[in-house]
Amino acid sequence: MCSKTHPKPTTEALAEWAKAMLVMQLLRDNCRHTEFGSLPRVDHPAILMQAAIQETFRPASPTEVYSDARPIFVAPSPEAEGQIPIDILLGCYLSRTRTIKIFCKNIAHFASTEFNCNATDLEVIVRLHEYAHALVHIGLFWKEESGVILGYPTGQETNWGVFLHARSKAIRSLTADTREFLAQVLCWIAIGVIEPLSKRHALQELFVTVMGRQPPEYHLSPDILGKTLYADPATLLAWARQTSRSKPTRRTSDRQAAEALLRATFP
Ligand SMILES: [Zn+2]
Repeated sequence: MCSKTHPKPTTEALAEWAKAMLVMQLLRDNCRHTEFGSLPRVDHPAILMQAAIQETFRPASPTEVYSDARPIFVAPSPEAEGQIPIDILLGCYLSRTRTIKIFCKNIAHFASTEFNCNATDLEVIVRLHEYAHALVHIGLFWKEESGVILGYPTGQETNWGVFLHARSKAIRSLTADTREFLAQVLCWIAIGVIEPLSKRHALQELFVTVMGRQPPEYHLSPDILGKTLYADPATLLAWARQTSRSKPTRRTSDRQAAEALLRATFP
């Protein structure tokens, strides 16, 4: 009955149809060609961040939204005139809802008027910076995941609420300048593994240019820029994710302690 009203397509007709679909996909440049048996190149900022730091967002990736909002920045002092703070003007990470907002209109505006760069390159840096904030909050080192996912009492199941509660408490207790240090360090590490090399160098250069227009808390010192790519941020992240953080003296700031923990792993 059915075959009378809807005759089965011939094998040839099926193959023709599939080829036409493939051509459409090729025209949209949406094919996923990769060398057989090898991993595809990582371009997506969320994946790149997780791969570079060897962590996974848990229990889920942050929700990322693009927004037409065009926030403004009012310089609080004469020294702050001309600054373009990433988290005010270009994007933000809201830990309460685990949401990343990308202010794409401001990105396009500042890319053309201030940074003289591709909007897409600036967008990559902003997204990586915001994913870095998210990773400090809800990233879990691959090797430590089994301890968390299996760390529940017998007869029960994984409770991500406990993990999230502890991490949210920790991120709220970090000083703003330490949060920015962490985000900038992770962003710099992620840019440092971008392929091909020409793209990596272009984004490294843009990162430094953008950093030059940030408030001081976003600035990484030359030794940190030079050596972080050979460092291990694991101890720094573990420290940042505790609520009671040890410091050498009471007068040591969180930021100083964070920088020392990173420097301790320099080659
Ligand atoms: Zn930030």
